[in-house]
Amino acid sequence: MCPGSLPPNAAGRRRSDSPVPRTPVDKLGNMAPPRSVTPAPSDSARDDDRTGSGGRTRSVWLLQLILGASVMITVLLVQVIEPILFTSWSFSSGIGIVIALTAVAIVVPWHKLPRAAVSAIPFGDIIAIGLMSVGTDLRFGFFWVFPIMWIATHFALASLISALVAVGAIILLDATLNATGPSSALRFLVVLLSLTFIAINTYLFTRQTRAFKQLLRRQARRLQGTLQRVSGQERRVSQMLNGLDTGIARLSAEGEVLALNDTYVALYGIERDEPQRPGGTVEYATLRGAPLSDNERPFVRAARGEQFDDERVWLFDARGEWRALSASTRRLVSADEPESTLLIVHDVTALIESERARERLAATVSHELRNPLTAIIGHADLALDAPDLTPKVREQLEVIAAAGERMQKLISEILATSRGVFREPATPAVADAGRIIASALESFRPTATARRVSLIEELPEATRVAGDGFRLRQAFDNILSNAIKYTRSGGTIRISGEVSPEDVILHFADTGIGIHAEDLERVFDPYFRARTARESETPGTGLGMGIIRSIVEEQGGSLFLESEPGVGTTVTVVLPAVTDDTPV
Ligand code: ATP
Ligand code: MG
Repeated sequence: MCPGSLPPNAAGRRRSDSPVPRTPVDKLGNMAPPRSVTPAPSDSARDDDRTGSGGRTRSVWLLQLILGASVMITVLLVQVIEPILFTSWSFSSGIGIVIALTAVAIVVPWHKLPRAAVSAIPFGDIIAIGLMSVGTDLRFGFFWVFPIMWIATHFALASLISALVAVGAIILLDATLNATGPSSALRFLVVLLSLTFIAINTYLFTRQTRAFKQLLRRQARRLQGTLQRVSGQERRVSQMLNGLDTGIARLSAEGEVLALNDTYVALYGIERDEPQRPGGTVEYATLRGAPLSDNERPFVRAARGEQFDDERVWLFDARGEWRALSASTRRLVSADEPESTLLIVHDVTALIESERARERLAATVSHELRNPLTAIIGHADLALDAPDLTPKVREQLEVIAAAGERMQKLISEILATSRGVFREPATPAVADAGRIIASALESFRPTATARRVSLIEELPEATRVAGDGFRLRQAFDNILSNAIKYTRSGGTIRISGEVSPEDVILHFADTGIGIHAEDLERVFDPYFRARTARESETPGTGLGMGIIRSIVEEQGGSLFLESEPGVGTTVTVVLPAVTDDTPV
């Protein structure tokens, strides 16, 4: 099939709509780069309304214009009600100064001048209002409220006190020039106290507001910092998840896609906006088998809330390649977020390929071993037919022939397994463990003799067990081979047994190099070799013990291992004894 083409049924599947609710996925999700965080405004920007160029000019205009407008209205009223007042030089000059100050306030570019320069305006106003009030029973003294509040809001306490002192001095001067007795003293007090009260209140309120603003600003800064930290963490997690070679999709309890990592998107060739669509890929139950229906797809099943583990799916991807996927789901439960589901998809194609390659190799090797084996068995049989054989030679030839046949059977098994045919479960049968061990001992005797290791067999009479004799011989061969291999010259291997109505217990005890306690459990692991074996430089692959245990357990038995370095090792095999119910 050429790259990019689809296998049969693929086109139909591509067009089909998914039953899952179609919600466009948030492209960012939890696995994409996080939103950028707007930086907090700088201190200078924040203070703009107080000290900044435009802000300051605007507030000078506003404050002075209010006073100017109030004075202008007063002028109009005075013209109507009491025009005589214009004859007073102080009144007229006071009005003139206020108007002039208003003009100055509008014209001067305050943002170019130091902040203290602004205070000239309210102080000028105090004097102007003072001039308007002199000789008029302080009738216009209420206008002092304007500059006093201005100073209380925008300037330091010293300026405020100076302003109040200036007002007091003007009233005092007025009282002295136009002495009107105790009533003027009372007026002096009332006006000054009222102004002081307003000034203190404004001053305190302004400070409080400022402190509150600062507090808010500090909290906003802290919040900003936390937000930046959290988004940094989010970014790191996203990068990590996108860097994995495992496809991950996060789904809400309602089946909506909350996030997808890059690997998932690339694997399925999907659009992030339409993650429910299969994209340019089709999923199959088996390699080149039937395509999965929408309802059977792992994504749809996970969206429905189904939980599954290591489900194998074959994906025919957009490039026209087959991929084996292992799909699993995991529930994500957290106290501060609604429950969601993770769909995790591993590409296991390489693993399956290597399994296949291993099986192919095993099959080839086994197959090639068959021919020399057939020759060995055939020639042993031929030799056995010779009439003039001594009993010793005959016995040895029989051992060779029997070993060859066992090997042939083993090879057939390997071939069967590597063809993907599962071995039939062990058929219950009866075997005489004692006879099998005796025959195995015969095979090993020459090796043991060569290594000067004594073999002692002390088995009880009745050792019939429920099990496959062929498999048991394989296990006993491995136990005896180890015992001989790991026992030094002059050592002993003793095989003893006990029989109970339920079990036949067989002990294979040697006086060999032993195994350290910490290695005991691990000797069953494939390719593991104990420290004692490595140190004594005895050759081996580390596979035998695992095979022994699986055979014994296959027969319904169990295996125990005891050992002490330098003293010896005892392998105990417990097999089910033959009962009346055991089929023969
Ligand atoms: P092979 O797979 O070729 O048999 P092996 O003998 O090293 O290699 P196993 O039979 O699986 O592997 O044994 C695993 C390890 O257990 C050995 O390497 C050895 O360290 C230890 N062992 C097994 N039997 C004995 C024994 N009777 N005495 C001392 N050590 C033993
Ligand atoms: Mg071994």
